[in-house]
Amino acid sequence: MQELPRIRMGVDIGGTKIAAIAIDSHSGKALKQTKISTPTDYENLLKTLTELVHVYEKELGPVTYGMCYPGSVNLQTELVQNANILWLNGQAFEQDLSKALKRPIRTGNDANCFTLSEAIDGAGKGHSVVFGATLGTGLGGGIVIDQKIIVGLNRLGGEWGHVPLPWPIGKEAPGPECYCGLKGCLETYLSGTGLARSYRHVSGKSLRSEEIVALANQGDADAESALSRYENRMARACAMIINILDPDVIVLGGGLSALNRLYINVPKHWDEYIFSPQPVRTKLLQATHGGESGVRGAARLW
Ligand SMILES: [Zn+2]
Repeated sequence: MQELPRIRMGVDIGGTKIAAIAIDSHSGKALKQTKISTPTDYENLLKTLTELVHVYEKELGPVTYGMCYPGSVNLQTELVQNANILWLNGQAFEQDLSKALKRPIRTGNDANCFTLSEAIDGAGKGHSVVFGATLGTGLGGGIVIDQKIIVGLNRLGGEWGHVPLPWPIGKEAPGPECYCGLKGCLETYLSGTGLARSYRHVSGKSLRSEEIVALANQGDADAESALSRYENRMARACAMIINILDPDVIVLGGGLSALNRLYINVPKHWDEYIFSPQPVRTKLLQATHGGESGVRGAARLW
């Protein structure tokens, strides 16, 4: 078997920006980083990604190639689906890019790459079982065991965004409609959008999650109650993960992970729901690599 190049290149394709990184696989050190605008059509995306690899290899020597992009591959057709870059849907993206780069490539979804990166040299470093959760516009999740992503037979491993909020209280069931077609999914409660909805429900005002956090810091009662509900719901959602997977650590990423009070208040509430007579030892931690976890995780797919 041919030995792999030492340099791992990772690319994270977003709706507006593409981030790239090269990591030394031995030291974990970032050797080069780039941010460019996402092209507006498929041909140019392939061309841009190919040129990016050539630029990196000219400077650093041969690289492996891993990437994450906001979409998945249809299990039957192997074509891209569910991508929010709409013109990417229906393309044989991974095959086309692999052909253009003349090498095998590996891909992962954002939440899986995030979890892998945090498990290798982030907040989950040194732990065997890591559950990663991304709290952004949506709610992503990933499972990494011994530094390997548990992708799953149907590539659904760690997808906790679309299971119902456990132990519902009052009007929490059936819950808000989710874009997936069901009601009361965790995503409708624990995403930034979910926090905004919960606040709007009591105050009648439409604010973004950052604004709600700022108001709570100033002592606003409605904002504070929205955050308290959020923490209690997060505690129940984590309790469910702990009851099933029992990870060593749960690492939070995405916009709302910057909220320091989560790491104190969520574990305070979760023991009430976990099937254990004594307090659990599970740690709830903030991601180390912040916004870079996706691209670092893509590089770590090799
Ligand atoms: Zn859903």
